[in-house]
Amino acid sequence: MIESEEQATYVSSEAVQLATESWGWITPPESILRAAELSIQLQNLMVGEAVVKLGLMPEDKKNALLKSKPADRQTLDWLSTHEPQVKAAFDKIMALRDGIQYFDDLHNLGIVVHPDMKKLNLRRYCEEKRCVLGLMEQTKPVLCFGKWEDLERYRMAGRAERNEVKNIAPNHALAVGNPQRVTEWVAAAGSASTELDETAQKNLWLPTDTRDSEALRKFATLIDVAMSMASDIDINPLRSGQGRVMLRVNTKMQDPPGGPYLLSPEELTEVTRFIAKKCGANTTGARILKPCDGQLIYRSSAGEIFIRVSVIPLDPGGTSYDMLSVDLRLHKRREVAISLHSLNMQPDVIESCRKAAAYSQGLILFIGPTNTGKSTSIAGLIGLHVDLFGDSRKRISIEHPVERFVPGIKQISVPSKDLFAPYFESILRHDPDLVMIGEIRDQQTANTAVDAGLSGHLVVSTLHANDPIIGIRRLANMIQEDKRFDLYEAATLLVSQRLAMTLCDKCYQGAMRKPTEQEIDKFNEYAADNGITIKMPDGIPKLSDERHECDVCRGNGYNGVMPIFEVLPVTRTVKDLLAIGKFDYQNLGKHRTRTLVGSAMELVALGKTTLDSVFI
Ligand SMILES: [Zn+2]
Repeated sequence: MIESEEQATYVSSEAVQLATESWGWITPPESILRAAELSIQLQNLMVGEAVVKLGLMPEDKKNALLKSKPADRQTLDWLSTHEPQVKAAFDKIMALRDGIQYFDDLHNLGIVVHPDMKKLNLRRYCEEKRCVLGLMEQTKPVLCFGKWEDLERYRMAGRAERNEVKNIAPNHALAVGNPQRVTEWVAAAGSASTELDETAQKNLWLPTDTRDSEALRKFATLIDVAMSMASDIDINPLRSGQGRVMLRVNTKMQDPPGGPYLLSPEELTEVTRFIAKKCGANTTGARILKPCDGQLIYRSSAGEIFIRVSVIPLDPGGTSYDMLSVDLRLHKRREVAISLHSLNMQPDVIESCRKAAAYSQGLILFIGPTNTGKSTSIAGLIGLHVDLFGDSRKRISIEHPVERFVPGIKQISVPSKDLFAPYFESILRHDPDLVMIGEIRDQQTANTAVDAGLSGHLVVSTLHANDPIIGIRRLANMIQEDKRFDLYEAATLLVSQRLAMTLCDKCYQGAMRKPTEQEIDKFNEYAADNGITIKMPDGIPKLSDERHECDVCRGNGYNGVMPIFEVLPVTRTVKDLLAIGKFDYQNLGKHRTRTLVGSAMELVALGKTTLDSVFI
């Protein structure tokens, strides 16, 4: 008996998936899957049966009540008058029976307020319609009403009346949610806080909250300064127990403006424990014994910045102090279309990218250490893809976390890098034309990338390695042996990237000098070792003595960075070389259309950088 009843209410997983997709989810949480299943079941039930199914009223009570229902009363209204629980669930029953999703708790589902709720017009509109525009899975807009009848009214409203939302989010999903939560949300959107990332939003550091601590006040001031000039703030513990705080500016470590910044042992403990706690890495605030990381948003009068925090405890060496090495990576968050031209990418590199992006499938890899601008180049490549194909292509990225908002691509922030592979596999079922994976770092992701790149998807990713040749070798070693051939077939373009420091445009006026014999010999030797055939230019920049008084570069002579590239298009010849294991610089190297050293040398000849940046 039980079996047949289960069969009667069985809903196939395909039907559930279709329902959640129609609600706008890509990877729906468990509670949404259950709600979709329930919604499908309820759609086939009478209202009275739905009430029983939801456990709001026992079957016999429902039957007895419906027998005595006055003819002019709606079933649900009538049952509601006899059972407060039914009344409370009225909106939920109506929504789910109509195939509309219902959110009991927006926060648990990871739904965040749409950034455009900052805009006064939209906020007024939402207040009036009693709804809120949110984002599911960080990217999919959803208009959520507190009451079923408000949603009904919206659906029936004329086109002009719906345009306010349609103009901002043409493909938004609809939902009904806990009315109290919806009201709170509209109110919250009215205040300044409309940051996208829910996790980081919870970890919000307002320096006004920590102004009572001398150490934290001083540190907050440093973040204010660093925000406009540095990519990282590093705290390095010294043997004395003190912490030395340095900034990474244009890829080089330096003291903050105003000279060395030392934290006393007590300050170091206070600052690091506070940051580790604030970013969610170490919520207890206890002594940190193993590496941990997290993220937070720092917001002050100087601006707002997203910070990724990494804390590594070092050998305490018998001290009673925390020996913690802390790195704060600073990210400005904004959505901007990036063009490869604006990144100072050389025309031939752009052309290689354009060719690879125009294929309907393949594997494009940006290879290099961290902090070399790979993700910026990928954002540029996606911009190029948007230029080529517009909205006719489906693009999805899987990142940890989303640090930069890129137009034209649906961005999914996964909670951990270990989840790249499962997310990747499930996203392929949505048949995207272009998939961006934050990083290929394990066999499963590598295998999936190769399969996808050979089956109608353009896969773009990054890889940690020095250059394209080492990169493809690393990837080949990462995947199953029987898949290596597939890898060489899938690969279309390998690009390696670095940032070269560029000469200060205030104190360097373009003076050039002849290279010394020693410099020429050193370069020729290096070039020969690396299979590079270019020659030392006749003139190289002569640094000015005025730099010592320069307030822009503070005497170091540089004030910016420019990307340099090495490009290996994976042509038929290259694929064949790889297939027979010719992974060396002599054979493969010849097929590079440019090298990092060659690129840097071009900048030297143009008077943009010095020889120091060449030996990388
Ligand atoms: Zn200067």
